[in-house]
Amino acid sequence: MPRYEYRCRTCGDTFELNRPMAESSAPASCPDGHDDTVKLLSAVAVGGTAKGGGAPAGGGGGGCCGGGCCG
Ligand SMILES: [Zn+2]
Repeated sequence: MPRYEYRCRTCGDTFELNRPMAESSAPASCPDGHDDTVKLLSAVAVGGTAKGGGAPAGGGGGGCCGGGCCG
């Protein structure tokens, strides 16, 4: 079940709710019971952002080690 984040405009608190997608825009009460809440843009899980893009560390691919700089 997706998780949605809401913010209470009365007390400024943010809270999360697990609810069906069909109820994502339904009114949500904050933990303190306030009704004036807004749904925040949830962080949609997007993959593929953690690519290295560099040489493998310690791979011995002709880098520092071998030239004598590593002692
Ligand atoms: Zn509140």
